[in-house]
Amino acid sequence: MLDDLCKVSPLGVGGFGRVQEKNNTSKTYALKMLNKQHIVAMGDQDQVMNEKDIMLELKSDFIVRLYKTFKDDDYLYLLMEPCLGGELWTLINEEKGLSHKAAKFYTACVTEALIFMHSKGIIHRDLKLENVLIDSRGYAKLIDFGFAKKVGPGTKAKTMCGTAQYNAPEMILNKGHDTAADIWSLGVIVFAMLSGSSLFADKDDDDIKTFENILAGIDVVFFPTEIKKIAEDFIRKLCRNNPTKRLTAQEIPKHGWFENFRWKAIRKKTMKPPFIPKITSPVDTRNFDVDHLPEEKKYPSTTNVSSWDPDF
Ligand code: AMP
Repeated sequence: MLDDLCKVSPLGVGGFGRVQEKNNTSKTYALKMLNKQHIVAMGDQDQVMNEKDIMLELKSDFIVRLYKTFKDDDYLYLLMEPCLGGELWTLINEEKGLSHKAAKFYTACVTEALIFMHSKGIIHRDLKLENVLIDSRGYAKLIDFGFAKKVGPGTKAKTMCGTAQYNAPEMILNKGHDTAADIWSLGVIVFAMLSGSSLFADKDDDDIKTFENILAGIDVVFFPTEIKKIAEDFIRKLCRNNPTKRLTAQEIPKHGWFENFRWKAIRKKTMKPPFIPKITSPVDTRNFDVDHLPEEKKYPSTTNVSSWDPDF
């Protein structure tokens, strides 16, 4: 398979690169290369197999598609749909917060992804701005399913994971969590989109203080004036302390913030996105910070890495 592809440019950390088919220069992909020695050294075998299995199950227009996996002696490869518009996080930083119209568009894309995943009992568990990418048309898609988990109806996941400032209180308190944990993280995302700032993060990036802020709850949070009352109400209903009292993904389209919003146009992808990424050629990397990528670590080939990945 690798022989049929040629490198175009790097895309991100973790060995991500843009590749294209040798005989078809208009078709490009994102190729994630995972060093097997690194996976074994970090004990990440289960996480990698989990990411692959869950992504193969998730066929949605709002989730990056995993087309194929393959491997050689040193690497596992995931061939994915490319999102060449970069991370939503970068856009919000550049714009210092978004208009309500733009924020609704991206929230609707993520909501569509969550409606689909949650209907299959899959929790993302690391929902954050960095894991929402913009495709070449300007639509948003979810990536990074390394922490995702499938839970049966009425059962809860236990392991604490994800990113501190997006963690739901029930996860911090180790009470068990379900799809409502993603809804909480979505509330944090919507606040960041509208205000350009973080809802619960400590100003010095101290995780313990961030957790204290989260556990103090949304009721003590002061909302800046640029967040309209109806959007404030929406965020408060996503971030209710009690997970069973939060809106579900299915209920989000009915909230007043989305009054007159054309959900069908989002689903059919006929709505004009707020920003159309500038991409002039398959080698255009302007939406990715490819100049500051860390060097790939070298691992001695001493560990036997061949036995755990027969399914890849
Ligand atoms: P990950 O290892 O999944 O966290 O991805 C690392 C980085 O690679 C992300 O932060 C993105 O900037 C980039 N990336 C991941 N998936 C894609 C994709 N499908 N298309 C373009 N860039 C991607």
